[in-house]
Amino acid sequence: MVDVMSRAIEGYREVKAEHLLGIFGNPIGHTLSPVIHDTLSESLKIDERYIPFHIEDNLGDYVENAYEAGILGLNITVPYKQEVMKYLMETDEAARSIGAVNTLVRTENGYKGYNTDMPGLARALASEKIELSGKKVIMLGAGGAARAVAYMCMKYGADCTYIVNRTYEKALALAEDMNRQFQSDRVIPVVAADYRQIPEGKYIFIQCTSVGLHEGDGLPLVEDDDFYRMAVCGVDLIYNPEKTPFIRRLEQLGTKAVNGLKMLLYQGILAYELWNNLIVPEELAERVYRKLSDAVYGRKVVLIGYMGAGKTTVGRYIAQKSGYTFIDTDAYIVEKAGMSINRIFEKYGEVYFRELETEILKELKDKKGNMIIATGGGLPMREENRQCLHELGEVYYLRAKAETIYDRVKGSGERPLLACADPLTKIKEMLCERAPVYEAVSDRQLDTDDITLDEAAAYIMDGNI
Ligand code: NAP
Repeated sequence: MVDVMSRAIEGYREVKAEHLLGIFGNPIGHTLSPVIHDTLSESLKIDERYIPFHIEDNLGDYVENAYEAGILGLNITVPYKQEVMKYLMETDEAARSIGAVNTLVRTENGYKGYNTDMPGLARALASEKIELSGKKVIMLGAGGAARAVAYMCMKYGADCTYIVNRTYEKALALAEDMNRQFQSDRVIPVVAADYRQIPEGKYIFIQCTSVGLHEGDGLPLVEDDDFYRMAVCGVDLIYNPEKTPFIRRLEQLGTKAVNGLKMLLYQGILAYELWNNLIVPEELAERVYRKLSDAVYGRKVVLIGYMGAGKTTVGRYIAQKSGYTFIDTDAYIVEKAGMSINRIFEKYGEVYFRELETEILKELKDKKGNMIIATGGGLPMREENRQCLHELGEVYYLRAKAETIYDRVKGSGERPLLACADPLTKIKEMLCERAPVYEAVSDRQLDTDDITLDEAAAYIMDGNI
């Protein structure tokens, strides 16, 4: 007799909750699904936990055992999306048409199978204001994911769908299947080399091949710019790397292109809605998306503002609470240069110091992971640095009144710019000069005179105040 809990991956075997959810797959170690479902449960205060199960064989027995063990719902991923259909009580119409199930929902007599990849992508497109109804589509690829996409195009009323694939026979089989199911002739297979057969016009491009997943991959199927100029917008189902060659090419041509992370998000949200019989509000979907995006790509939060505005204090606090790496550009420079900022100013002058700041911003841009970066007050005053800040991450301007700043920094000998007879007046003058630059370079602003560290952290990490 199999025991599904014995297949839970490391770190999940002792998980306890009123209801368990999970995912079957192989490999499964790097799944991002717990980020989606555990964030939803936590936010909605539902006592559920989501467990990745590494299933190597006996899929049917594990499905049965999961049901007996009371597991409320399961996702199914590679390589079991087709095989699992044999072990279900019932399968919904879309999953039958696509020929793949990625979600099992508990019913009285067993699990019912759904495919949330298709409506997940449709919801992702809707969130990007991409409407399929009456539009022309070019799909690249005719594999498993492409089946769900072709079905979606038909279901959501695309005017016509061209399937461009390396292997013509697979494109033909998929087109014939969809045309048969929808009694149409609007799905047309095209072998990649013959893409010029596609009538001129503007098309929604949906990239469903696996080309672009690996470093060194080029464009999928067609190199020619004329082909990509036919795109009115593009979607790549791949989400890691964040920008595939397909996305980059469309962007170079000035065409909007999005990746597959929102598809991943919404297929998960739709599964969660089915398991719990609820609707996830869009605001919460956005919060989950931010978490997902941080988990895949890392997030860099940059704090700018005048000295004493709270950049280091807030940055350190958030790092401690969230596990982000904290970097203070001033401290970084001191460590690298092996001397204090006062000494650098005295010995080499301000211009040299600003150059060091630029170097550091460039270095940080290439670093991976979640980071919160507190910058020196004068850093954004250099034009080159402003460009670097934009490329580095989300920029928050921490603002404070001159009097607040004066109270916070007076007595500190570490502020070379304030070594003068009337520091408060100097602060006021410098704020007048710098505040418009800080405003212009920042994505968001936060007044720190009267807020607590928790409030600042909630604003920066979750957008709450
Ligand atoms: P699949 O069934 O293996 O199909 C792969 C497709 O890519 C086929 O059309 C194949 O063409 C084509 N292909 C592979 N290597 C190629 C090459 N070197 N040159 C040209 N074409 C090539 O895979 P799948 O399950 O459909 O997944 C496809 C992609 O979608 C994957 O990268 C996956 O990460 C992504 N995906 C994303 C999500 C999401 O939630 N965002 C969900 C599912 C899948 P042939 O037919 O000629 O072999």
